Amino acid sequence: MLEIVPLPAFQDNYIWTLRSGNRDNPYAAVVDPGEARPVRDYLAREGLTLAAILATHHHPDHVGGISELVAMRKVPVFGPKGEPIPALTHPVGQDDRVEIPELAEASTAPAPSFTVLDIPGHTRAHVAYYGLGSLFCGDTLFACGCGRVFEGTAAQMLASLSKLAALPDQTRVYCGHEYTLANIKFARAVDPGNVMLAAREERAQRLRDAGHPTLPSTLGEERATNPFLRCAEPVVVDSANKYLGARVADPVSVFAAIREWKNRF
Ligand SMILES: [Zn+2]
Repeated sequence: MLEIVPLPAFQDNYIWTLRSGNRDNPYAAVVDPGEARPVRDYLAREGLTLAAILATHHHPDHVGGISELVAMRKVPVFGPKGEPIPALTHPVGQDDRVEIPELAEASTAPAPSFTVLDIPGHTRAHVAYYGLGSLFCGDTLFACGCGRVFEGTAAQMLASLSKLAALPDQTRVYCGHEYTLANIKFARAVDPGNVMLAAREERAQRLRDAGHPTLPSTLGEERATNPFLRCAEPVVVDSANKYLGARVADPVSVFAAIREWKNRF
């Protein structure tokens, strides 16, 4: 089993650090190192050596630390083909596999392996990494929300979110930012009668009050409470129509409406 550790960066980013559950294994990999310092500090403190870097998309708060980290140690850098990722050695796209042999439980055990999913919308070629029941989805799916649509279309973003939503309920969702409480506040405006959402808010508030991340969430939880995964639910359609002052029903228009509403919320 991998151990997955959040390293806070900037205001509200998380750099997800993967290490073996076997504490004798001295290697770690990182996802979206927007800055090098938290990674450097963690590796030094834990006596770990960097084995690989995975990037979900090209935004500086996700890739800004890569050059400094590979200058310390030359490691494979996986990232979306079609985006300018610093020091990229392994351009990846849909269905490619990412294996990190250094993180295996033992020398005879299989290497942890992730499948690449293309999830464009936030950026042109954004990818997610899925494996061992865990999903690293950058700025596409957030806990109770989703990323802004910067380089793609609403239809693309909704297709990407739907692709992620099709993964098993128990999938752990590791996204790029601690936005959960603000996202829940918006979700409650869209979906006011959702009792699971109210319970989620209490849980998230307790975690934040204690100084803990609200992540990972699970896909089951997202499907039940995240309005951007619920664009076909009558209550979400109604709220979108109220916001627009017009009658739309198709999921892409509903998604576009609530995404725009969230931008102004
Ligand atoms: Zn981004």
